[in-house]
Amino acid sequence: MQRRLPALLRRAAGAGPARRWLSASSSLLFDDTQEQFKESVHRFAQEHIAPHAAAIDASNHFPKEKNLWKLMGDFNLHGLTSPEEYGGLGLGYMYHCIAMEEISRASGSVGLSYGAHSNLCINQLVRHGSPAQKEKYLPKGITAFIIEKGMPGFSTAQKLDKLGMRGSDTCELVFENCFVPQENVLGEEGKGVYVMMSGLDLERLVLAGGPIGLMQACLDVVLPYVRQREQFGRPIGEFQFLQGKMADMYTSLQSSRSFVYSVARDCDNGKVDRKDCAGVILFAAERATQVALEAIQCLGGNGYINEYPTGRLLRDAKLFEIGAGTSEIRRMIIGRELFKED
Ligand SMILES: Cc1cc2nc3c(=O)[nH]c(=O)nc-3n(C[C@H](O)[C@H](O)[C@H](O)COP(=O)(O)OP(=O)(O)OC[C@H]3O[C@@H](n4cnc5c(N)ncnc54)[C@H](O)[C@@H]3O)c2cc1C
Repeated sequence: MQRRLPALLRRAAGAGPARRWLSASSSLLFDDTQEQFKESVHRFAQEHIAPHAAAIDASNHFPKEKNLWKLMGDFNLHGLTSPEEYGGLGLGYMYHCIAMEEISRASGSVGLSYGAHSNLCINQLVRHGSPAQKEKYLPKGITAFIIEKGMPGFSTAQKLDKLGMRGSDTCELVFENCFVPQENVLGEEGKGVYVMMSGLDLERLVLAGGPIGLMQACLDVVLPYVRQREQFGRPIGEFQFLQGKMADMYTSLQSSRSFVYSVARDCDNGKVDRKDCAGVILFAAERATQVALEAIQCLGGNGYINEYPTGRLLRDAKLFEIGAGTSEIRRMIIGRELFKED
């Protein structure tokens, strides 16, 4: 069943046929409303996020002065899965993955921060928060745990200097005799493992939009480049070796996309399968690293130079093989689930 998009997203999408950046086969995955949503997030992300991606990476600094978070909030991206009564859009994981893909396409690190905020934090509150907690925290959309800055006993350690995803700040959270009031308990007491582990399935699904966005970003760089760059009197894209790389990059992207969005659709229909949620990010993350390596290769020397975004795309892609449980752990989960099944 198709839904109507909120007015803000409709306006941003504009009228008219699907734009060229939408690959032909992505339309097999999405209905018209989802296509429209993808286009509107794409435009938003390319206008407001992509221009800052290189500087965020170089400075390892999230530009608070650009108000990206507020702009994304005004666009209602933070509350995609939140019920409308709490100011969200009440959309599902299909939409959440689409947003993650397009934001990551503009900047992997902003995508990662977005995934952590909208899924690890807000979606967990949606799933497990008491009515009072939802009332208090959802419209504001704050931390991953219901611990507030300034609470006695809670502090953060130094910002970590990372290989990639720079500007998406990461640090250790330090708890020293931190007192948590009863009303801040999320989900049932003693059921924390369930709260986090079941949330991890959905985190893996939604984060899998990240490597998809990065693979698309690789093609966004490579395709114009191989058309324009000439060697031996011909565009390098005419060489079959290069066409083979393009084919491998494209099929990696499209197979990951099909897997991710079919699992997202299942989750929206209430069928959350642990091995599939681990499977989508296992597959997409490893493909993204390979695609980023091929993107560097397609650009030759330029691919290795930081003036071009390919190095950043590789460094950002690698994170998805580690965060939200490593590839090894995902394989363990899938193997264990398959072994359990009769
Ligand atoms: C940028 C970034 C952001 C992050 N954000 C968050 C966050 O928001 N919230 C959060 O909770 N965590 C976060 N993490 C932590 C992340 O989830 C962990 O780093 C990751 O799960 C791996 O755990 P570890 O670093 O302790 O590695 P280890 O567990 O020490 O693993 C080291 C190696 O051993 C392998 N290994 C470990 N156990 C086994 C096993 N049983 N069988 C086979 N191989 C095994 C691993 O696969 C890996 O290759 C983040 C990490 C990074 C880098």
